[in-house]
Amino acid sequence: MCIFCKIINNEVPCQKVYEDKDVLAFLDIHPKSNGHTLVVPKKHSENIFDIPNSDLQKVIDVAQKISLDLKHKNNLQGVNFLNSSGAWAGQEVMHYHLHIIPRYENDGL
Ligand code: AMP
Ligand code: ZN
Repeated sequence: MCIFCKIINNEVPCQKVYEDKDVLAFLDIHPKSNGHTLVVPKKHSENIFDIPNSDLQKVIDVAQKISLDLKHKNNLQGVNFLNSSGAWAGQEVMHYHLHIIPRYENDGL
């Protein structure tokens, strides 16, 4: 079982940001900025090439909710969404995930 499936099954701990029946969001263990969050479908898909469109839509809806929440709470200036699909594109964890990377003034990223 992949590491994110283990997180979804509560076999590996995470810092949960959001959960519903189809989607989980948790903090990245190596955050690029404060609040760096990963949004994943609970049903395993590898990447953009095999994720069902319905799961992708749920992920992006949750990513928007979290972005708005972060904007209100953390006073961020912007946000980057990132998805790497395929090893050649730098994908390390082979379970679809969308990075939400909050951007702050002078964050140097
Ligand atoms: P990538 O596949 O290139 O998008 O990178 C995988 C991302 O998952 C990296 O930013 C890691 O820091 C993050 N990551 C890997 N394992 C965990 C974990 N157990 N909990 C939270 N984030 C993780
Ligand atoms: Zn998985």
